[in-house]
Amino acid sequence: MYQMKCTKCGGVAVVNMPQHRLKLCNEHFVEWFPDHVARTIHRHDMFQEGDRILVAVSGGKDSLALWAVLQQLGHITEGVHIHLGIDHESYSDRSQEHVEAFAEKHGLSFQVVNVAETYGHGVPALAKTTRGHRMCSACGLVKRHIMNRIAYEGEYAAIATGHNCDDEAAILMQNTLHWQADYLRRQAPVLPQVHPRLARKVKPLCRTYERDVAAYALVCGIDYIQQECPFSAKAQTLFYKEILNKLERHSPATKQRFYVTYLKAKEEGLFAEVTKEDRVYNTCSRCGQPTLAGDLCSFCRLWEAMP
Ligand code: AMP
Ligand code: ZN
Ligand code: ZN
Repeated sequence: MYQMKCTKCGGVAVVNMPQHRLKLCNEHFVEWFPDHVARTIHRHDMFQEGDRILVAVSGGKDSLALWAVLQQLGHITEGVHIHLGIDHESYSDRSQEHVEAFAEKHGLSFQVVNVAETYGHGVPALAKTTRGHRMCSACGLVKRHIMNRIAYEGEYAAIATGHNCDDEAAILMQNTLHWQADYLRRQAPVLPQVHPRLARKVKPLCRTYERDVAAYALVCGIDYIQQECPFSAKAQTLFYKEILNKLERHSPATKQRFYVTYLKAKEEGLFAEVTKEDRVYNTCSRCGQPTLAGDLCSFCRLWEAMP
């Protein structure tokens, strides 16, 4: 039987990463992975040694692997998990349990924000009041608001999320097909802090394939939640991920090239013309967060409609 050989030691390779021209054995993969993430952090100037990083942990493989790696690299991290109040198949309770078990095992500290306990209603009840019951957009809005609040109150240097290269490439493909210029302009490994209450956001796994993150989670024995959110409208994103993986099988490294050349083109000035943003933020009269809407921010308006 044909066996792949580790590029570094000639031993039996367990992962094949043509996009990095590497096949690695277990030992060398575990060594390579944190280095690779460290290079991404450095390349995009995400944060410095000594910065306090708030890691947004969902309980899934990406954010838990990210947390593990940041810790190994010696960064100061604290986690935040948002309990969304999704009862279906105990999804939210189970997600939180995975975060708790992981944190305990690794001696990490984190906080949970339980949406229903803090604000009176969980995301499913909340989403019912929005037009067309758009659960995912309400959920995204709630998560962004809470992450910004926690980062501001705790004075963290940045929020790190587990978005991987497949996530970013799929979003990029979606935005490109629809020429969503505004989204294309803003999609980035680092979203700078544009307002004291809107935290800096970083994606240290944005150059790492989902498959490799999963492999890393596996070899590190990370116990993550495999169940997808029962309301997830990820079908759309999954569809684009499949197309990209099909392209990848036909011509390895395509997915990476698609994403990385986009980043490069942007650095070289593509979309530069429209980058001059003069956003004028109002301050929400209820929660104090900045908003482009009127008196109340979209988060606070969500709650207005609740009985
Ligand atoms: P998703 O939009 O579900 O693919 O999640 C993208 C990233 O957002 C994850 O990798 C996490 O870093 C973060 N995230 C998602 N859901 C939660 C949650 N319930 N609590 C904290 N962070 C989350
Ligand atoms: Zn090796
Ligand atoms: Zn508000």
